[in-house]
Amino acid sequence: MDEPGRPEQLLAGAGILLYGSAMGSTEDVVVRAMTNDHAFRVVAAATTQAAREVAAKQRVTGEAAKALAGIATGAVLLRETMAPNLRVQGILRGAGGKGTIVGDSFPDGSVRGLAQLKGDRSAFSLGPGSLMQMMRTMVRGGVQQGIVDVGQAGGIGEAITAYFHESEQLVCLARVGSRWNGDELVAAGGFVVQLLPEAERPAHMIMTQRLEDFPPIDEWLEKPDFSADLLIGELCLGMPFTELARSPVFFSCRCDEAAVLASLSTLGHSDLQEMIDDGKGLEIDCDYCGREYLIEVERLRALLEKS
Ligand SMILES: [Zn+2]
Repeated sequence: MDEPGRPEQLLAGAGILLYGSAMGSTEDVVVRAMTNDHAFRVVAAATTQAAREVAAKQRVTGEAAKALAGIATGAVLLRETMAPNLRVQGILRGAGGKGTIVGDSFPDGSVRGLAQLKGDRSAFSLGPGSLMQMMRTMVRGGVQQGIVDVGQAGGIGEAITAYFHESEQLVCLARVGSRWNGDELVAAGGFVVQLLPEAERPAHMIMTQRLEDFPPIDEWLEKPDFSADLLIGELCLGMPFTELARSPVFFSCRCDEAAVLASLSTLGHSDLQEMIDDGKGLEIDCDYCGREYLIEVERLRALLEKS
């Protein structure tokens, strides 16, 4: 499998790292490595500050915030493992059809999220019947997707593991987690280990045993020096490995007026006409980041003519 270099992302990362240190937080980063015998690919991410901002923008707490941090981290890991140059969206549907939570990860390392919940912004269940859908948006616009039963898998990381098994037919282990102090997110991150087809039997057995004995992600998140590098180092302990890519992870929303206008195209003629007749334009917030847009009447009129 080829591992394209991504110099543009490393450059883009320079400013972000400064931002991270200015906030006094450990840097959020996703690191991709491969053991030198080409047997294993390991991807690990620290997403603490990014997940914190995603949760704050969506005003979620409790189980909903945990699910949002988990799926945002999962989308980052999945993108970095399978499709670094594509957008990956992870969508969780709560048990009993209650609520939808989205993690949205882009090739530049930016991540954002969405929590569509009725009423209580802390409640969300990943119990029986909850589903995870992973969507990869291809460069030319197509979409690949897969759906996994999260309740049956036993969690988001476990569901990602199942997704890898089904879509790639590779032996893999994925885990994501977050540690909270009340409503404050202290640490978030996760990892993916894939056994590549070239893995020879002895190496395969060593890694399989290591993954079986590997402490739960929550234990790693407890460590004050928790980082992506800590996870990579422990997962590859005693195995020479090469770092293939390192990119920053950060909260950012890609909304602009054009995107907001596009979302309005679902409105009917009569709704648009009504807003135009009102003569005040339309105030609308981005669902992901809350940025406010004022759509002028002329723009609404143009939209009406196009529709
Ligand atoms: Zn936005």
